[in-house]
Amino acid sequence: MFENLTDKFEKAFKVLKGQGQISEINIAETLKEVRRALLDADVNFNTAKEFTNIVKEKALGRDVLNAVSPGQLMIKICHEELIELMGGDETEINYQGNPGVILMSGLQGSGKTTFSGKLANFLKTKKGKNPLLVACDVYRPAAIDQLHVLGEQIGVEVYSNREEKNPVKIAQAAIIHAKSKGFNVVIIDTAGRLAIDEKMMSEIADVKNAVNPTETLFVVDAMTGQDAVNTAKAFNEKINFDGVILTKLDGDTRGGAAISIKAVVNKPIKFVGTGEKMDAIDIFYPKRMADRILG
Ligand code: GDP
Repeated sequence: MFENLTDKFEKAFKVLKGQGQISEINIAETLKEVRRALLDADVNFNTAKEFTNIVKEKALGRDVLNAVSPGQLMIKICHEELIELMGGDETEINYQGNPGVILMSGLQGSGKTTFSGKLANFLKTKKGKNPLLVACDVYRPAAIDQLHVLGEQIGVEVYSNREEKNPVKIAQAAIIHAKSKGFNVVIIDTAGRLAIDEKMMSEIADVKNAVNPTETLFVVDAMTGQDAVNTAKAFNEKINFDGVILTKLDGDTRGGAAISIKAVVNKPIKFVGTGEKMDAIDIFYPKRMADRILG
């Protein structure tokens, strides 16, 4: 995913080859190239600008040890700052409770239903939990069917009620069902739409207020680049989610969303989706991403 960015970063650092020391003049070209590389990777404009400003400040303020060339120092600083930008350490989701309630939100097609299945599978196989999946899309019967198919695949029960048209009631009934049957995590898949609209947002906000989730997640397709960041902003303003799930990182994405979302929305990316299968889920590690970017 980051091939282009990695190439461009390498070229940017090469400019410093042969330089004995870092100075405002000799890093100007490198910083310009770094910023251009970030923008080409679809990183948010302000994020790219702030990033290069911080790198500049740190580079000029740091004593250059004899053993470290300006090029190496710039790589080191960029590496550290990329990790910071993406959230520092990895962040866990909170699924503890009686039961723990995880609410999924996002646009239609973002990969919400697929990720609900992946997360249930992850909690069941890796964390020894007994999850219940809940279909709360009251508009698309196909979405309910899809969740049932996934549930069957991973051996997780799916709660749905095709007669009920109020998602709040479905979610509340599902939690009562979970308590009586000994499910300790409830994952609620809500309805998405193709674009942001008020009705969808109010509906998710109503479900959130009614069930008071331990974790509210926002799912977004990494391939949508800058739009991913804008959509995240709009959802966050309305439902104040806890974390982001970035899907389709296996696709042809330039990686901008992975780099900018935390900086713009101030919410961490917690998991990534890397394929259509139920085991294509990874915890998001900012350090590993930075390692990949800097080759
Ligand atoms: P929803 O409308 O948000 O519930 O989205 P879906 O879960 O139905 O996903 C939409 C499409 O994206 C489906 O064809 C999924 O198989 C696919 N998809 C979901 N996550 C990933 C992923 O991480 N990688 C890839 N390549 N495809 C994905």
